[in-house]
Amino acid sequence: MENPMDFVARPVAVVGMGLSGEAALRLLKKNGVAPKDIATFDDQPGKADWHDPQLMIEDFRPKTLVVSPGYPLSKLWIEEFRQEGGFVTSELALAVDYLQGEKVIGVTGSVGKSTVVSALGAALESFSPHSFVGGNIGRPLADYVVDLQESKRKKAEWIVLELSSYQLENCGHLQCDLSAITFLTPNHMDRYRDLNQYYETKWALANITRSSLVLNGQGGDLRSFAKGRSTTNAMIFWTDQADDALMPLGLNEASLLSSHNQDNLAVCAKLMTLAKWPERSFAALRAFPGLPHRMENLGLFKGVRFVNDSKATTIDSVCTAALGLYEGMEKKGSLVLLLGGKDKNLPWEGLSRLSRIAKLKPIFFGAVGPIAQERSGLAGPVVKGLGEAIAEAVGISCPGDLVLLSPGGTSLDQFKSFEERGTFFRKEVERLTK
Ligand code: ADP
Repeated sequence: MENPMDFVARPVAVVGMGLSGEAALRLLKKNGVAPKDIATFDDQPGKADWHDPQLMIEDFRPKTLVVSPGYPLSKLWIEEFRQEGGFVTSELALAVDYLQGEKVIGVTGSVGKSTVVSALGAALESFSPHSFVGGNIGRPLADYVVDLQESKRKKAEWIVLELSSYQLENCGHLQCDLSAITFLTPNHMDRYRDLNQYYETKWALANITRSSLVLNGQGGDLRSFAKGRSTTNAMIFWTDQADDALMPLGLNEASLLSSHNQDNLAVCAKLMTLAKWPERSFAALRAFPGLPHRMENLGLFKGVRFVNDSKATTIDSVCTAALGLYEGMEKKGSLVLLLGGKDKNLPWEGLSRLSRIAKLKPIFFGAVGPIAQERSGLAGPVVKGLGEAIAEAVGISCPGDLVLLSPGGTSLDQFKSFEERGTFFRKEVERLTK
């Protein structure tokens, strides 16, 4: 078989040494590019061979740049490199050329990507254990390719790729069998000329899809942007939580909480129906609890639902979580909200939006507790740390209530990371409700 790497001109410089850059390096080495023909570049000192692009271009004289999604293609030196005849590619583009007929689902969108991709991953686990879920989330595609080449894994039947707009700008021969766009709203405007250019980049996925493109009917600007637009090959399917065709699937009983996630689940279910995944994958989709620490449904403890949204460190995400969950609460019990952590000068006043929640019971904790209480204007006790806040929450909640950790502040007053804080929350809840 032909080796796609034979068509990559050498020497090669890998630009941006994050996860994608490391995986690119592995792919290059594994597929016959000699170490002397590979250099690494990163803006940050310590991570790579080169830190000054001009010096690298002049001394190493690369013929190919493998640019990571985190590094803007619009940098002048990269544009000049192209104009001089250099070849610009990416880890994803290189990896795609090694695929061997795996069926590919691509997912993009301004928000909702990780949720949809992880939920599809949970569904796949129920019937296709060797499938690969990655890209912009988890592991890069090049790692899948090299793992397969090194017999560390089996060939995947399905590959689900989360694709950022940066990846779509530079994805080579990528073709998806099915794909979805979850949502369009302004984002990353520092890297795009205007909103249209950003949305066009996302829409590029539509034109590299062979069979079906699923669009979220509640996807922000998606409907107006898609109006009048066509795709090269793919049929377009709109869906959302009100999609009659999906009603028999019982998605309203899914573990994943909040109204916007009902739309995300509809997108998943539509893709899964089009892909003809088996019955049991839909049960797995319904059981998907959410990504760890992001509106993660920990389940019912003595009739009280506990939700871990430890990742929420903006006022917007706290409001989205609390209002979304409140909307979805059937019997409208109390919503006990744990707020606090370490401040990063957040506009706590913004929490006044939560006064819409009739039975809101905030508990403030941690370094920012007193400030958050004062600025938010919400009435609730201030306690010392998260442990005390959880004990208070367990003490005051009754069956039908919901306890949400969506703190606003960062974890760093008490923990190393939001993951550690979320894990502490789960363990304390389990201990105190035994
Ligand atoms: P991404 O991977 O695209 O950043 P996530 O799935 O991690 O997106 O979701 C990030 C946040 O975006 C969520 O916490 C939620 O607040 C919001 N979000 C996700 N899906 C939707 C949706 N379908 N509609 C509106 N907001 C959403």
